[in-house]
Amino acid sequence: MMNALSQLLYGGSCYWIKGFVMPIDRDEIARVLKERRAIKPCHRCGEMQFTVLDGYSKMTLEKEIQGGLVIGAPIVPVATIACDNCGAITSHALGPLGLLPKKEEEEG
Ligand SMILES: [Zn+2]
Repeated sequence: MMNALSQLLYGGSCYWIKGFVMPIDRDEIARVLKERRAIKPCHRCGEMQFTVLDGYSKMTLEKEIQGGLVIGAPIVPVATIACDNCGAITSHALGPLGLLPKKEEEEG
């Protein structure tokens, strides 16, 4: 049974596999976001033109704020979208979008 956090981290039936290499596919990200109806105007300026940035990001989840870098903190892999007009940035977790590798793929 997946809770909300593991859904974000692992994408439900999907798994984030250590060492797995997944090159970014900006067209696929744009296609999935459109399919999921993530197509509303920019939340800051109201414009409609966006760019899928050419690289994934990782959001770390930390139970408390500390000075310095936390090694081994859980991460949420995200695709990052920027408004072409004002530069506002929006992150979308890859797991719920079905963009993380599935367990079957790991077992090959
Ligand atoms: Zn904007």
